[in-house]
Amino acid sequence: MADSAKKMPLGGVIEKAGSADDYFTGDWRKLKPVLDGEKCTNCLICWVMCPDSAVIVEDGKMVGFDMEHCKGCGICAVECPDKIKAIDMEEEVS
Ligand code: SF4
Ligand code: SF4
Repeated sequence: MADSAKKMPLGGVIEKAGSADDYFTGDWRKLKPVLDGEKCTNCLICWVMCPDSAVIVEDGKMVGFDMEHCKGCGICAVECPDKIKAIDMEEEVS
């Protein structure tokens, strides 16, 4: 086996706790969430439900998305209450 192969970490091994912030999962995104601030009631359900902690809240208000870590799963848009629907998922343009 080549030396370089021996140096590779085992698949699925997280070598350092609390390292999620170091991985820019936004690179994977095909769709991006877009907030309509006029409709949003700041219920913060999207903030609770986002699996990547990519919904940004300041002073108790939903202000947008951390696009370096949002991977475009769309959970926030689905979970935003039906009567509000303040988040649309749009195609990412590269
Ligand atoms: S699309 Fe997914 S990762 Fe991005 S903010 Fe919404 S719930 Fe979070
Ligand atoms: S779930 Fe919808 S209404 Fe609630 S904070 Fe998020 S975007 Fe705003």
